[in-house]
Amino acid sequence: MRIYHPSDAAEAVRLRHELEGSHYLAGGTEVMRLGSSIAADAPLIDITGLPLSGIRQEDGKVIIGALTTLEEIRNSALVPAFIRDAAAFDASLQLRNSATIGGNFALRRFDSYMIPALLASEADVSLMCTKGEKHKSAAEYFSRKECRALLLSFSVSAGREGESVRIARSSHAHAAVTGARSEGVYAYAVSSSGIAYGGPDAWKEISFTDDLTGSADYKRYLASVLFKG
Ligand SMILES: Cc1cc2nc3c(=O)[nH]c(=O)nc-3n(C[C@H](O)[C@H](O)[C@H](O)COP(=O)(O)OP(=O)(O)OC[C@H]3O[C@@H](n4cnc5c(N)ncnc54)[C@H](O)[C@@H]3O)c2cc1C
Repeated sequence: MRIYHPSDAAEAVRLRHELEGSHYLAGGTEVMRLGSSIAADAPLIDITGLPLSGIRQEDGKVIIGALTTLEEIRNSALVPAFIRDAAAFDASLQLRNSATIGGNFALRRFDSYMIPALLASEADVSLMCTKGEKHKSAAEYFSRKECRALLLSFSVSAGREGESVRIARSSHAHAAVTGARSEGVYAYAVSSSGIAYGGPDAWKEISFTDDLTGSADYKRYLASVLFKG
């Protein structure tokens, strides 16, 4: 395994484009884990030395650096409560202490802890691309299948209200359905099936599939009642 240490975000992005099959190394909980979806010999671009951590409030927005860990988010009084709840869905303290919000969002997992809350909160993301820094909505970033840009930070309205829900057999088991709603925006992540966001019926766009978390019918039912009652 080769690990590269860029001195700034622009160099990290340049390396990501130059090195075939490379990945950024943030918390490392996915890229370094046994049985990872990422090849064991993938070149890794260590971004942990870049100044991308921390949470601050600015002009009515809460800015969360991409390297901020799920545990830091869970404990921050600045972060809207339903986003803190989403970070707490990662039930392992050891994982939460390493796993970053940037890594979680970039992975686009269908059992993601954070993606529904970030989509429902209409978060904006700052990115470093080959042509410099850009700002996009989280939804716009998410609509692309792959993006080699470096996520720098997430920005959400301070005081944004919402709710996050996760259904799994136990707190440590993979989620069957995770969802969030905030001020009329709904987002659903369904294991092995997909992610959808928009109105309350956005879950209908998902092609539900059987897996070890439950049958397609079971997950369709869960999604349909997630925010009812
Ligand atoms: C036992 C176990 C269970 C897990 N269960 C879940 C689960 O249920 N749900 C879930 O969502 N995750 C799960 N994970 C995966 C992982 O822990 C989290 O998704 C975590 O938030 C990933 O963040 P990281 O910083 O560790 O990412 P890393 O492992 O460092 O990187 C993961 C990916 O994100 C990319 N990346 C990292 N940072 C950035 C950035 N700033 N900009 C652009 N791309 C970036 C990397 O290129 C890489 O492709 C699990 C992991 C383990 C070990």
